[in-house]
Amino acid sequence: MPDMPRVVVLGAGFGGIGAAQKLRDAPVHLTIIDRNDYHTFQPLLYQVATDELEPTAVGSPIRDLLHRHDSMVFHKCAVKSIDLAKKQVLVEEMSPVEYDYLVLALGATVNFHQTPGAAEHSFPLYTMKDAIRLHDHILKKLEEVDKNPALVDEGALTFCIIGGGPTGTELAGAMSELLHTELKADYPNLPIDEARVVLYEHSPAVLAHFKPKLQEYARRALEDRGVEVHTGTGVVEVTAEEITLAGGDKVKTQTLIWAAGLQANPLTKSLGVELAPGGRVPVGPDLQVKDHPQVFAIGDMASMTDGKTGQPLPGLGAVALQAGHHVGKTIEQLVAGEATTPFKYFDKGNMAQVGRGAAVVELPTGGTLTGSIAWLAWLGVHLSLLSGAEEKTSVFVDWGWNLLTHKRGKRILLCDDDSDDA
Ligand SMILES: Cc1cc2nc3c(=O)[nH]c(=O)nc-3n(C[C@H](O)[C@H](O)[C@H](O)COP(=O)(O)OP(=O)(O)OC[C@H]3O[C@@H](n4cnc5c(N)ncnc54)[C@H](O)[C@@H]3O)c2cc1C
Repeated sequence: MPDMPRVVVLGAGFGGIGAAQKLRDAPVHLTIIDRNDYHTFQPLLYQVATDELEPTAVGSPIRDLLHRHDSMVFHKCAVKSIDLAKKQVLVEEMSPVEYDYLVLALGATVNFHQTPGAAEHSFPLYTMKDAIRLHDHILKKLEEVDKNPALVDEGALTFCIIGGGPTGTELAGAMSELLHTELKADYPNLPIDEARVVLYEHSPAVLAHFKPKLQEYARRALEDRGVEVHTGTGVVEVTAEEITLAGGDKVKTQTLIWAAGLQANPLTKSLGVELAPGGRVPVGPDLQVKDHPQVFAIGDMASMTDGKTGQPLPGLGAVALQAGHHVGKTIEQLVAGEATTPFKYFDKGNMAQVGRGAAVVELPTGGTLTGSIAWLAWLGVHLSLLSGAEEKTSVFVDWGWNLLTHKRGKRILLCDDDSDDA
């Protein structure tokens, strides 16, 4: 059917996948573009970094979407810019891709808030490569100290995390458990008891968007696991050897993990539209870009408001996925000449894990859960959200194994540049 409209979806994260799921049976030619050939389940990246899960458990092949859907194609390539006037997307290694409808779902990138040295010396946790890099860095620090224990005084075993949101909090709990359980047995000659996990959060509490009693529970659960929690403290400078705190104190560390902020994908600047704070693309109630009724922006790169409450929507996987579904349906309606409706987010609650057997859950009804019940709820929800049967099975097996034996992954360097295997 050569006269079907061309729909191009940029990005196969939560938003892009949501749109593609809705559109794959619609009467359109659907093209998906992503620089990776896999969808990344970002909420579990910290488990790759801390050896609870292997990378393939949180990355699922985008090409799986194409099975049995002939009018759909996928190109693994990087988007360079978007020309709204010419209705073209410029990509690497291919001629420009033309569209009738465009879905912008290119996510966000880390925001170092112009902190000197942060971009060069810290470890963000936003992509699969970030998670593998951090994973290997932790193991390399242990190998270095194994050969030269004096490095402990240089901060080789001081692991600092900036940002006490869900990412920083979940990572801090998992790192402390990793260092003080499995790695303790792996490195019997290491002064592993001197290893520190230090969490810095500039606001007065961790998990700022949760209720105060959940914030207090999370702080206690982290401290029970040996994490040093410093709230009301920011980091103002980072070098390869130390960090400087807002009050002027310096802490020797060779690992600063940056979990303190995001900004929209810089490609939003190529659109030539006025951007909202954080570089996000402002959209109307139906997620359309102003003055471009056939262009939609969703997820972390968009500034979206809830059609039900009028409130700004947070940067969450659930928000992006539902927005993707909505845009898919809207495009179908436009193609059929039907009326469209505003996007209304269905809030299913909020949750974060703090460690084995410890989590916090805020239900949409206002109720809360903590402890092992909340943790089981966290496991169930994350398992159900993973994309394919293969990923679900693999995560289920890894978590079950970890739970029964207190042993994690393979604990080997995944990308060891120093190895002379080549
Ligand atoms: C560590 C971490 C933990 C999180 N935990 C939770 C959680 O527990 N619960 C929750 O609801 N949310 C969580 N989030 C937030 C959630 O993951 C995001 O809100 C969600 O991924 C946003 O979806 P998106 O589709 O907008 O962007 P993304 O999922 O980031 O997808 C963007 C896609 O665009 C592609 N892309 C980017 N640039 C280019 C380019 N130039 N060319 C081609 N392709 C490109 C990327 O490869 C990616 O596939 C977490 C995020 C992080 C980073």
